[in-house]
Amino acid sequence: MSQLQLNPIRQLSASVINKIAAGEVIERPASVVKELLENSVDAGATRIELTIEQGGTELIRVTDNGSGIPQEQLPLAVTSHATSKIVDADDLFQVATMGFRGEALASIAEVSQTTIRSRTASQDCGFEMLINGGHREPVQPCGCPQGTTIEVRQLFYNTPVRQKFMKTAQTERGHIVEAFTRVALAHPEIQMTCVNGSKTTYKLPAAEAWSDRIEAFFGTEISSNLIALDNAHGEIRIRGFVVDPAVSRANNRMQYLFLNGRYIRDRSLQHALSEAYRGLLMTGRYPACFLTLEIPFELVDVNVHPAKLEVRFQNGGQIYSQLLSTVRHRFLSTDLTAHAQLSKKPDEPFRPFPKGVLGDALVSPDSSIHGNQETIAFNNTAPAFDWTQTPRQPQLAAGVGSSESTGSVGGFSMEGHDDLGNPSPYPSPYPNPIGTGVAPSQTPTALQVHNTYLVSETPEGMIVIDQHALHERVIYEQIRGKVVDGKLESQRLLVPEPVSLPPAEAAAVLEQTELLEQLGISISPFGGGTVLVSSYPAMLNKQNPAEMLRSVVDQIVEDGKTLDQRDLVDELLHMISCKAAVKAGDRLSAEEITALLEHRELCQDAHHCPHGRPTSLVFSRDELDRRFKRI
Ligand code: ADP
Ligand code: MG
Repeated sequence: MSQLQLNPIRQLSASVINKIAAGEVIERPASVVKELLENSVDAGATRIELTIEQGGTELIRVTDNGSGIPQEQLPLAVTSHATSKIVDADDLFQVATMGFRGEALASIAEVSQTTIRSRTASQDCGFEMLINGGHREPVQPCGCPQGTTIEVRQLFYNTPVRQKFMKTAQTERGHIVEAFTRVALAHPEIQMTCVNGSKTTYKLPAAEAWSDRIEAFFGTEISSNLIALDNAHGEIRIRGFVVDPAVSRANNRMQYLFLNGRYIRDRSLQHALSEAYRGLLMTGRYPACFLTLEIPFELVDVNVHPAKLEVRFQNGGQIYSQLLSTVRHRFLSTDLTAHAQLSKKPDEPFRPFPKGVLGDALVSPDSSIHGNQETIAFNNTAPAFDWTQTPRQPQLAAGVGSSESTGSVGGFSMEGHDDLGNPSPYPSPYPNPIGTGVAPSQTPTALQVHNTYLVSETPEGMIVIDQHALHERVIYEQIRGKVVDGKLESQRLLVPEPVSLPPAEAAAVLEQTELLEQLGISISPFGGGTVLVSSYPAMLNKQNPAEMLRSVVDQIVEDGKTLDQRDLVDELLHMISCKAAVKAGDRLSAEEITALLEHRELCQDAHHCPHGRPTSLVFSRDELDRRFKRI
């Protein structure tokens, strides 16, 4: 029998209840940003400005030109379970607003020093209320324009445990920018600004085309590869863009799905998307997309997740197959290789859209997919907006700050220079020939088969070598040694290359700036999600620096949390070796084959590639004889 004696049951105070609720809704500064931005959207704002300091830990301020909060309701706004958005439980199934639980402001005010300033159209002055760790001060008149400003300072100052869980300002900033991105993508009709410290990182005018806003965040690499789609089936409409399979990601974070104006994550829809891309992407690669789902409110339960990130569909199966078939059919009608343009025939079936350069198709609802297609009237608060209009030229709308311009800066030339200032076009697959003492005569010759394997005679029998696996091993051992000695050659770019990344990924990679420096990769922040690459390993000069950085980012995002620094360096070395090595399918010259075999003899572990796969198979003379029944 347990001797444990529980304390008597007590009703918790409102303050403790709010702190518990805060733990659910307000996980980190980015959660505050999300809630405040959504409140501004709900208030009908056409202009929203976000300011943060120190990754939101010092200050988060959101100013909007929305409806404002009447003086007498200011205290209610920060009372939990007080909302203007629903009245009874039935309304829960008709939610047209972002918020409705009435707990965000109460939670935020409980764990910070919050100031609310607000003025409605009918008031001739504004009113202000301070809430310090949940303690409300009396409401005071103040001067302010119509709309609301909510200022949150010293987040989590009274909940030290929460504070401990916060990451560096850089990381928190990344999450905040991601939250900003999601709201800005969901509401392209709203003018939105993001100020980080003293720097304006995004200044987004109300967008005319969704693709403009997508481009403002992700650059032309994405915006010039958008494939528009629009499909209505019954009451459900799917619109927006998928991204050409040529542009993929190592994770599914660039899958932006919006349900009735709300950013959501949904495993089943992510799965539908991968199914649609099946065969078009390598394993481990994920598609990118920007899709809006318009579904009658009563067919979705948005009240299943504290931050409303996940939802429950009444007819999930139908939505799954609609998404899958829409994307598949769109691919069927799209020239994914950019070659078929030549064979364009005007009256081909299943080509409802003009082919050609992806994204130049002006898409009408896809009537060829579903015979029973009808366009539904959708009760969205946003004005009519063309979600599938394709990019305008020139790229960025006027007024977009230059600091985050995500296109190319200057005329960057891929022709780089090595440390000595010599041009270094990639001459052979052997970036760093080792001056070896191995005489060529000692090296056996080999025969290349299928441009993939090398077959050679050995004293014991015969060996079949996987050219890529072996070369990868050779390079890995070379560069590992150089990194240890601090002698890895890096290549400085004439003009640093800006690379736009999802904000969280940009933050993650910037956190590893020093580690990357050891590998000859120099990066620096450039505002927004843009990172500047100013040098990178010379042996990768065949590669585009942006591509190289993306591979690095993928690795860091994948392994950065689980591996210590040394192992992460090792993983990155594997990645670099793999990229620099000859590929299966590369035809090798006789000299290249000889060089590779020479290097094989110098390898510490010539039998395995850095991933642990074998580099060669050995057939002994005995075994050959046995197989041929000679013995
Ligand atoms: P919810 O959004 O779920 O209703 P919140 O705690 O986020 O709950 O906000 C409480 C209430 O405060 C809202 O219902 C709304 O009436 C009011 N409010 C909050 N922010 C704003 C704003 N920026 N403009 C106008 N009203 C606001
Ligand atoms: Mg809210």
